[in-house]
Order: sequence, then C-alpha cells, then structure tokens
Amino acid sequence: MAQGFKGRCFCGDVKYTVTEEPIAFVVCHCTDCQYASGGGPAHIQVVPKDSLKIDDASKRITDYSSKADSGRLVTRHFCSRCGTPMFETLEVDPSIRLVKSGTMDDASKLKVDATVYTASAQPWAHIDRTTQLFERDLVFPFERKGG
Ligand SMILES: [Zn+2]
Ligand SMILES: [Zn+2]
Repeated sequence: MAQGFKGRCFCGDVKYTVTEEPIAFVVCHCTDCQYASGGGPAHIQVVPKDSLKIDDASKRITDYSSKADSGRLVTRHFCSRCGTPMFETLEVDPSIRLVKSGTMDDASKLKVDATVYTASAQPWAHIDRTTQLFERDLVFPFERKGG
C-alpha cells in the first residue's frame, strides 16, 4: 500500500485503512455537505470501493441517506459515538467510496484536484481557484489532473 493511508474518527471507535492511492481529492461546497460538516465544505478522498477496509474492531457506525442533486441516494456514514463524518457511499457510482480527509492520520501532503458545487459555496468560503472548478457535480469517473 505505497500510497494508501490510515485514519480514524475523533474518539477512535472507528478505524480504517485505505490500501490504494486515492483517485482524487475533491472539495464539495454543496448545501448537504455544509450541513454534514457543520459549516465548511466537505474535504473528500475518492477511493476505489475495495481499497477501503474498516477495522474489525470498529464499533458502531450510523448511516444517513438522502437524495442528492442527481436524484440518487448519497449515504453518509458517521461514528455512532462521536459523530465524526467518516465515509460516503454514492448510489450513482457504487465502485467508489468517499473518505473524509479530516479523518486521515496525515492529510498534510494532499493537493486538491477539484472543487465542486462552487455555485452553492458561501460568499465567505475560500475557493482554491488553482484547482479544477465545477459549478455543480463532477462526472465520475473523474480524470485526475496531471495523472
Ligand atoms: Zn468516534
Ligand atoms: Zn457535497
């Protein structure tokens, strides 16, 4: 797992390993993510579904599904104890999982590939204009900038 990573929730009840390099790092300013994050955009590692291994010792995870813009379900997975947003599953693309960057043991070396839903970003939110910008959703599979 040369480019994989590990992470956990705030309280440590949920731990995971991602065994492959993420497909992309996406920042999402959609209204749903603003609720789910408590105000900021979501910072998301897009990873192949099978590369995400949730540790067997992990305690309970709570799921919440809602309808996205696409009309398809997005399921958000939280630690049942501390409420840290951990993962997302997209009905529109079951081959991927989204992992919240804030749960990574070391997120300091990341570079954002794309910023999505800039149309619903708050006026005070920072948008990194050196990344690929999308007014709404990006289309999966997503071509990573610079390979
Ligand atoms: Zn927790
Ligand atoms: Zn979003």
